[in-house]
Amino acid sequence: MSDLQDEEVEKAMKQLMLAHISDDEMGDYHDEAIDDFGRARVKAHLRRCQICLRKYERMQRILAASENLESASALAARMQLQQILAAGLIAVVIARARRRGARMADEEFREVYDWQSEDGMLRWHVVEDDSGIVARFWSHRLDLEGLQLIINIGSLTKEITFKRVANDQVGGQARIEGAERQQLPDDWQLCVESVTLPEQIKNSE
Ligand SMILES: [Zn+2]
Repeated sequence: MSDLQDEEVEKAMKQLMLAHISDDEMGDYHDEAIDDFGRARVKAHLRRCQICLRKYERMQRILAASENLESASALAARMQLQQILAAGLIAVVIARARRRGARMADEEFREVYDWQSEDGMLRWHVVEDDSGIVARFWSHRLDLEGLQLIINIGSLTKEITFKRVANDQVGGQARIEGAERQQLPDDWQLCVESVTLPEQIKNSE
């Protein structure tokens, strides 16, 4: 080979190493469905290119998460719970606003809000008085043991995990008092940030 050809080959190799990795190439690399030359190129490129490395890491994260995807029925159950909670909690907010308007200044302050889903599956009870706010959620569906709710009360975030509280009842509660209570505005709102089903429901088909 002449010097000129060597130079050309080297230049072509360099360009090949510099070229970003395509999505297909990255997928094949991840699936180990790539030839030795391709694998060596991808490896070498990932070592020197932050852009492709980040993209590859993101792809790995997405693929790992998709292996833990819920079944369709679990997704439907979760969406249903989320909807029930959202509707009921909005009702609490509306009731609160009405009662606040009607309250006399010298009344002892204690408000109770009760709610239950149409099918009676999920219930909650919110009590607000001078000492704080307690939001209690419960259900007679025992397979909801382990259910996780993330609730926002004003700017505060509370996590509730359903545990067995009686023979025929699972539930949990969030309590806000003291300094936390002080930082809430009068017109605090209650909403559900997320619902995570217990493993036994998530894994059922
Ligand atoms: Zn790159």
